[in-house]
Order: sequence, then structure tokens, then C-alpha cells
Amino acid sequence: MIKNEYLARVLEQVKQRDGDQPEFLQAVSEVFESIEPVMAAHPEYEKNGVLERMVEPERLIKFRVSWVDDAGHVQVNRGYRVQFNSAIGPYKGGIRFHPTVNESIIKFLGFEQTFKNSLTGLPMGGGKGGADFNPAGRSDGEIMRFCQSFMTELSKHIGQFTDVPAGDLGVGGREIGYMFGQYKRLRNEFTGVLTGKGIGWGGSLVRTEATGYGLCYFTQEALKHLRNDSFEGKRVIVSGAGNVAIFACEKAMELGATVVGISDGSGYVSEPGGIDLDLVKKIKLTERKKIRDYAQLRPGAKFDTDVKGLWTLPCDIALPCATQNELDGDSARALVANGCTALFEGANMPSTPEAIHVLQEAGVLYGPAKASNAGGVATSGLEMSQNSLRLSWSFEEVDERLKNIMKEIYKNAYDASVECGVPGNLMVGANVAGFLKVADAMVAQGVAY
Ligand code: NDP
Repeated sequence: MIKNEYLARVLEQVKQRDGDQPEFLQAVSEVFESIEPVMAAHPEYEKNGVLERMVEPERLIKFRVSWVDDAGHVQVNRGYRVQFNSAIGPYKGGIRFHPTVNESIIKFLGFEQTFKNSLTGLPMGGGKGGADFNPAGRSDGEIMRFCQSFMTELSKHIGQFTDVPAGDLGVGGREIGYMFGQYKRLRNEFTGVLTGKGIGWGGSLVRTEATGYGLCYFTQEALKHLRNDSFEGKRVIVSGAGNVAIFACEKAMELGATVVGISDGSGYVSEPGGIDLDLVKKIKLTERKKIRDYAQLRPGAKFDTDVKGLWTLPCDIALPCATQNELDGDSARALVANGCTALFEGANMPSTPEAIHVLQEAGVLYGPAKASNAGGVATSGLEMSQNSLRLSWSFEEVDERLKNIMKEIYKNAYDASVECGVPGNLMVGANVAGFLKVADAMVAQGVAY
């Protein structure tokens, strides 16, 4: 329950205006509850209308994406780009292709991205985009034509100094390639307008692995500092079997853990002896098939179609890496009952407010997405730096920078939690540390743009 009058008033305004956007409201509520301890010390924020401005995107672009499918039929989807906040740098944030994409989802992601990018210490503002397009079962040609049509409109609003999109759910290297090609064709310029590019044409090494690896570096740092512990010998469960999940599994295994469960949209597998990650990569990344197909090739694996069943597996560490609100109160209670002592988020907002409450009450070490999954966008920031310098750094160099950034994010979140009187509450710490930098920049730059 928020007591600060200014925070409560602006939250009420958001409820009135955007009450039909549940995910956006959830994201704003979480940030507002967390920043309460610092508001009294900053009367200038109210004087400068910082909160009112922060909850309103600088720009929301909504557009038609029409394209022709393999059967020759015209299809129409809805595209979005939200340019949320440019106080500390050009808008930066991924593009999501998924049938659930709508204004609420894009705004929640763009709002979160603003604070996440601030936490990385790099000069990047917050943005996000996407379309309600379902890539499942579409041919390469259909994906290409969709991406080209999407970029034909998006290209009018982005640029290396304005807004630099990247991938997200349903958008990986293939889609970034098609979109980059179209941007170049339309503008006749080869610039770092997108990140997540191929290595031979301006991409950065480690970008593919960065969110999953960064999640494990952040988790490792928190375990070491707060519990004098590590991944060594731990049983880990990971939801999702996409870009974030697969490389989180890879790094957790490298650091000595056993991944005993993994899921995707088709269900989950449990393998107490540990999953075969090479086979998961082959099935998911190369063949674009399902975890159901993986289970059929592994006699020791138990498969179930109920994705939520993953959270009932005994484990020490849980890494939700699939999608928003995938982990509810009941799932959190099951995790606690089965021995889970740490949960770090790879997906954006994967835990419901009730789940977070259950975990924190039970003393589970909780790492919020905006801090723990910031490695992806941080490495996108490093890709932008390399593009500007016209240089490519080695895998080791980028990985070392990523490690240092994740350590620094942990330190900033922890220090802020101490200053707020809740040492080790990384949710409060991450929100406060991310917020203060953006808020101060907004005050410094004045009200009118
Ligand atoms: P991908 O599209 O590569 O993978 C998502 C995976 O999650 C797929 O395997 C999908 O299954 C699975 N999935 C979707 N819904 C569920 C569910 N309810 N239960 C279990 N599995 C599910 O996306 P990413 O890995 O890139 O992104 C995952 C999350 O991480 C998103 O929240 C994204 O916003 C966030 N994120 C991503 C970053 C990045 O660098 N890619 C950076 C920061 C955050 P199926 O294969 O069956 O469709």
C-alpha cells in the first residue's frame, strides 16, 4: 500500500487512464511501490512532474503490417513501437512477434526497459516494439515478407542516434537479418540501426548468449555475496527453451549446476540426471521443433503437457526464462515446498506480484528481471559501441565486459537496497537505482522537449 501522496496520486491517474492495460499497470505499480523510500528526499521530482511524465511514453506508434502468405492471401497484422523515455540515451529495446502482443504488453516492456537500461550504466533510453504476428509454422519466405513489411513502416521512426531496436520473443538472428536488409534497402545506408546482427555484418560476439550468461553472472554474484554460495552442485530448473533459457542452461552447467527441468509451449521435461543441452539446441535452434520431440528421443526424460508442472520439480535454483506472469502464487508455493532457495528472472516480469510476495516471505533469494536479465541489452550497447568505433572485439573481451557490467548492476542494486533500509531486497534496490538516474536526467533537461 503506497503512502506517499505524490506516488499514490500518479498511480491513481494511471489506473484511470490505462485501467484496461493490466500488464502496464502491474509494472508501474511495482516500480512505484519500490521507490517510495526515496521520494521524500526529492521534492524536485514532484515540482518537475517527473512521475506524470515517466508513465506517459514520449511516443507510441501503431501501424498496419500487410503481407502476402505462401498461398497468395493478403494478411494484416498490427505493429507497434513505443519510444518510452530518451532521458539518458536513444531509445533501445527489443521487438516481439507473438499473437499476445498489444498496447499493454508493449508499454509494460518499454517502461521496464527504461529502468533496466539505466541500470546497465550505458547511455540508452527505453523503447520496445512488436506485432501480433505468430511466427509458428510460417515458412522462411513468409517470415521474410512479414519482416520487410514491418520494417517498411518502422524505418521511418528509428535510426542509430534515435532508436535502436533488437530481438525479443519470436525475433532472433533470422528476423533481425531480414529487417536490417530492408532498412538498408530503403535508406541506402549501412548503420548500426539494429542490434543482434550477424557476426559478419556488424554484430557482436556474445550477443546471442548474453541474456542467459548475464543472468547466471548476476545470480552467481548474489549467491556469493549474500549466501557465500555458488551454482556448484545445485539442481536448476529453467522455463522456456528459447534464446535466454538455452544460454542460461549452458552457463549454469558450466558453473557446476545440473539442469533438471526445462519447458516450452508444448510442456516440460524432467530429468533428475540432467538434460542433454546439445540435443535441446538441435531440436529448438536448428530444427525449430518442440520439447515434446526432445522427450521422445530421451528414454530417461519424463514429459508432461502442463507447463506449470515445471515449478513442482524439486530444485535449488529456479530461472524463469519464458514469458510474463508465467509463475503465479501457487507455483511459487510449490517451489518453496520443494526446496528452492533462489529465483532469478531471465524473462521480463515472469513472476506475478503474489508469487514475488510468497518468495520473499519464505526467504527465497529473489533477482528481479530488470537487473538479472539486463545482460542482453548491455551487450547490445556494446554492439553499438563497436559499430561506432568500426571495430569488433573478441569473444573474451565482450564476455569480460558483460561480467563486469552484471557485477556492477548487482552492486548498484544491493547498495541501493541498503540505502533504502532493506539490505538484500534486490527488487527495491534495482528499481531505485534505475529510477534515480532517469529522474535526475529528466529534471536536468527541463519539461518541454
Ligand atoms: P524465444 O522466443 O527465443 O523463446 C521463448 C521460449 O519460451 C520458447 O521456447 C517458447 O516456447 C517458450 N514459452 C513461451 N511461453 C511459455 C510458457 N508459458 N511456458 C513455458 N515456455 C513458454 O524468446 P527469448 O528467449 O528471447 O525471450 C524469453 C523472455 O526473455 C521474454 O520474456 C523476453 O522478453 C525476455 N528477454 C529476452 C532478451 C533477449 O536477449 N532475447 C533480453 C531480455 C529479456 P515455444 O518454443 O514452444 O514457442
